Amino acid sequence: MATTTRAFIALTLSIWALADRPMGARDNARLRIVLNLEDFASLVSPTLNDAATEVRQVFTHAGIHVVWVYGTRRANAPSDGQPHVSVQILSHDMVERKSVGEGIPSRVLGTAAREICRVSIFYDRIAALENPVSEGAGRGVLLGRVIAHEIGHVLLPPESHSDAGIMRGTFNLRPQIVPLFTEEQAETIRSTLSERHPCVGPPGRYSN
Ligand SMILES: [Zn+2]
Repeated sequence: MATTTRAFIALTLSIWALADRPMGARDNARLRIVLNLEDFASLVSPTLNDAATEVRQVFTHAGIHVVWVYGTRRANAPSDGQPHVSVQILSHDMVERKSVGEGIPSRVLGTAAREICRVSIFYDRIAALENPVSEGAGRGVLLGRVIAHEIGHVLLPPESHSDAGIMRGTFNLRPQIVPLFTEEQAETIRSTLSERHPCVGPPGRYSN
């Protein structure tokens, strides 16, 4: 059953990947990022669908095309020239172990490891938030905002919190419109991806 569910989700995400097109970003139409999703929390597909849509909206407004791929990237996979970020949605036990091992406060909803291009998402904590935007923004939407925020930490320089938008240091539950990267942040991400981002890896990095 689990295999079937995951296969369905993978298919759904693949369809999105085909249907997704960056809007209002003609000059940056070739900028894209591949998100390798690993769902250790075994989420239901509507939650993942909503999260994927939210992430896509945030990055589309920044002129970046998001491609979702279900499952981790093989360690020996050859470099495909695309920037990849691993998105791991952790189970309750994984969150507990990581929090204790790394001294992560209970208010933290996710972490980003820039050097290995990976974000870790603490879904249990997101689901436990009292959601004041019950009309419209469900758990999947909030999950997507946390994912987008943490990917922002991978793509932007360190200490990249801002007073507004998706990179606010304090997660804001209230906006019923999608919080976005500021224009300056979006420009930084676009220029970073236009160059050779470390998440692409050097040629041959993944080969023997
Ligand atoms: Zn942050």
